[in-house]
This record gives sequence, structure tokens and C-alpha cells, in this order.
Amino acid sequence: MSRSYYDIVVVGGGVAGGEAAIRLSRRNLKTLLISKDPVVYSRMTLSYALIRDVKDIKEYTIYTENDLRREGVEFINDEVVYVDKDRRVIETKKGLKIEYDKTVIATGSSPRKLNVEGADLKNIFSFTSFEDVININNVLPKVSKALVVGAGMIGLLAAGALSSRGVKVVLIDILDRPGMTVFERPLADLMLKRLEMHGIRFVGGTSVEKILGKERVEKVVLENGETIETDIIIFAIGVSPNIPKGLEKLANGPGGSILTDDKFRTSDENIYAIGDCASTIDYITKKYVYRPLGILASYSAKMLSEAIFENKRYEGFLVYQVEETLKTIFIRLGINSFEARGLGLSLGRAKIIMKAPGAGKIENIILYEKDSGRIVGWQSMGLYLASYKSKIFEDLIREKKTIYDLEKRFRGIEYIN
Ligand SMILES: Cc1cc2nc3c(=O)[nH]c(=O)nc-3n(C[C@H](O)[C@H](O)[C@H](O)COP(=O)(O)OP(=O)(O)OC[C@H]3O[C@@H](n4cnc5c(N)ncnc54)[C@H](O)[C@@H]3O)c2cc1C
Repeated sequence: MSRSYYDIVVVGGGVAGGEAAIRLSRRNLKTLLISKDPVVYSRMTLSYALIRDVKDIKEYTIYTENDLRREGVEFINDEVVYVDKDRRVIETKKGLKIEYDKTVIATGSSPRKLNVEGADLKNIFSFTSFEDVININNVLPKVSKALVVGAGMIGLLAAGALSSRGVKVVLIDILDRPGMTVFERPLADLMLKRLEMHGIRFVGGTSVEKILGKERVEKVVLENGETIETDIIIFAIGVSPNIPKGLEKLANGPGGSILTDDKFRTSDENIYAIGDCASTIDYITKKYVYRPLGILASYSAKMLSEAIFENKRYEGFLVYQVEETLKTIFIRLGINSFEARGLGLSLGRAKIIMKAPGAGKIENIILYEKDSGRIVGWQSMGLYLASYKSKIFEDLIREKKTIYDLEKRFRGIEYIN
């Protein structure tokens, strides 16, 4: 059994771990990255891999082992099975024992599963890894009907990608509109129209009761009593943080994430955590939140090395989320209504319609704190021009401007509740 020592061991080679390892190695630390995946890639690109029937991860790779080595990072393709934080030793599935001075946990998240009858039948997938995409691509030639469970952003991306491959898609959600965990009702209504335009049927206010079939999935009985025939099911009902064994006590953050402070430190002084496995601090309220977003994962990797070497404190994360599905771009900045409930905020909403030549009407939703009027969020959905106002709204949020300040700048603000 071999044993070795590193200044830094990064566990998990997604966008968070891959970037962090490179940045820490550039600071002259003897750095090792251990990951279950053979290359570093971004899950954010998976819908494009599904749309384009991609079967080789090469095109979607950010860093190969050679790229990492060129940056001075050693790489081991293995699974960490135990972290002994008292002895500062990491144990892997292949039997390695590796000593560290500091470790960065960047193990990401795993898709949540529904524990219903028939959930072990064939042709039931998640949509969170390249392996999922390959598995779906492999069966797709024989598939004409799909059921996507969960109409959050990942479910919408899956539904859009499958529909573009000629599959007849039904999308269901326990909420009554698609995307309600991400955007506000007026945009959810717009998304519903986009789904209909693309021939995707949305069924809201229900979930899966049981799945029927001999070997493969054939039918799904919904809680509303409806039975839907389908060749495959894609579950997209959210993710949970991956916590390596031995570190369970550090996972006392929101949603079972590893709680980290404004320097990405956990309650163990030798362990940092970033990305989907960790909590983050909301920029506006300064409260701890769980936000499994790639943009946050890569930003945290950059901020981590600055926190360690330049003693910088992290001011918190202002959500900036851009997604593209069904030829529509959606942008979210800041807090949304779904998140506001957990943060104890009472929000008001206002709408501004902007016309853009060639792109039609663009709806902008502004979210503000009811008591103070402070702008805390902005959302927009449309064609390619949907993004062009994002910097204006980011500045308004960071400068703590109110909805009343905005009234002076834009005519035609409509309060929608
Ligand atoms: C379809 C899809 C679309 C998305 N689109 C967007 C988007 O547009 N914008 C956005 O901001 N976010 C998006 N996201 C979310 C984003 O992809 C994630 O937030 C991001 O990938 C998290 O990065 P991470 O490095 O923390 O974790 P991951 O990317 O999950 O990487 C974790 C790594 O750790 C490895 N690992 C786990 N456990 C162990 C272990 N015990 N030992 C060794 N290795 C381990 C895994 O194999 C993996 O390589 C999307 C996600 C999906 C699924």
C-alpha cells in the first residue's frame, strides 16, 4: 500500500476542483487532484452533448490529465472512500493512503432519486453526468416518447434537448408551472408557451405514483390518476451534496451541504470546501444558502486561492444564471421568489417590457424587498438580446438602488403584485 504527502489534495475534478487545483499549484504548492472522472469537464454543457448526439467526452473536456500535469498538478483517477481528518489522511478505493497538509473538498452533487414502485426498471435516467448523456444517446434511436420528471432548469434543458432530437416529450412537475423554482410566474407562463410551441406537453401539480413495465419502463401512473405511455424517463428533481465518508460532521450547512465561511473554510481548519458540495453566502442577505450552480463553482475556485494567499474575504455570491433551451435564453440575477421564502424576505415584483429590434418584446421582471424597496433580483427571457441589460441591473443591485430609483430611469414600470 503506497503512501505519499501533498501540500494540497483536491478531491473531485469538476469545474470547482479542476480550477482550484490549477490555481493552487500555480502558487507553488505540491498539489494532487483525485477524481472519479477521468477528465475535468463541465456539466453545464450536457444539454448540448445531448442535442448533438455526442458519444465522446473529448470535445467537452476542459482539462485532461496531461493539461493538469503541464500546470504542475498530479492527477489520480480514483474515488476517495474515507477522509481521516484527525490524521489528515485520504483513503481511496484503489487502496492509496495520501497525507495532506490541507484538503479541498469539491465532490459536487448527485441527482435526487424518487423511491417509487418500478424505479429500478431499464431506461430510467438522470441528467447530471456525461455518462448519463451517453446512456441516453445509446437508447435514443429506439425512443419516440419521453417523460421528464421535474421542470426546474435541468428538466427544461433535458426536455428541450430531447424534443430537438425528434422525441415527443411530456414534462411534469409538482408545481403548477414550469421553472417556478428558478423564475417568476410571468416568465413561467412564457416558458409554458415556448414548451407548447415546441410540442412539449406540460402537466403541472403532480408527481410519479408508480412506473410500470416488464423489463423496461412502459407506462407511468401519475399522482393525478393519469397514465402516460413512455419509452424513457429522465428524473430531474434536484441534487444533493456529495459528502465523503469521514466528513459527515462538517455537513451541517443548508440542504446537507458542507458549511463554509467567507474564506471557504469548514469547521476543520485543514479542510476547505467549494462547489456543489458546499454552502455559500448570499451576496445580498449575507445568509448561508445552498446554490448548486457551475458559475459559483468556478468563481469559488478562483476566490479560494485569493482567500488562502491574499487573505481576501468573500463578499458572497450574487446569482448570475444564464440558460438556453427551446431557442430561448433565460437570465436570472440575484434572489428569486422561491429562494426568498427560505431567506425570510418578502418580495414585490415589477415588470418592464422592452422592445428590441429583431428580438421582439423582452419581459424584464424586477424583484425588490417590500419594506425598503431595495432591488434584489432581475430576470429576463427572450431571444439573444435578453442578456444585454444584465450589467445595468447588476450595478443597481450592488449599489443598493431601490425600485423607486428605477422608476426615475424607466417609464412604464408595472407593479405585478
Ligand atoms: C444539465 C445541467 C446543466 C447545467 N447548467 C448550468 C448553467 O447553465 N449554469 C450554472 O451555473 N450551472 C449549471 N449547472 C450546474 C453545474 O453544472 C454545477 O453546479 C457544477 O457542475 C458544479 O461543479 P462542481 O465542480 O462543484 O461539481 P461537479 O461538476 O459535480 O464535479 C464533482 C467531481 O467530483 C467527483 N467526485 C465526487 N465524489 C468523489 C469522490 N468521493 N472521490 C473522488 N471524486 C469524486 C465527481 O466524479 C466529479 O468529477 C448545470 C447542471 C446540469 C446537470
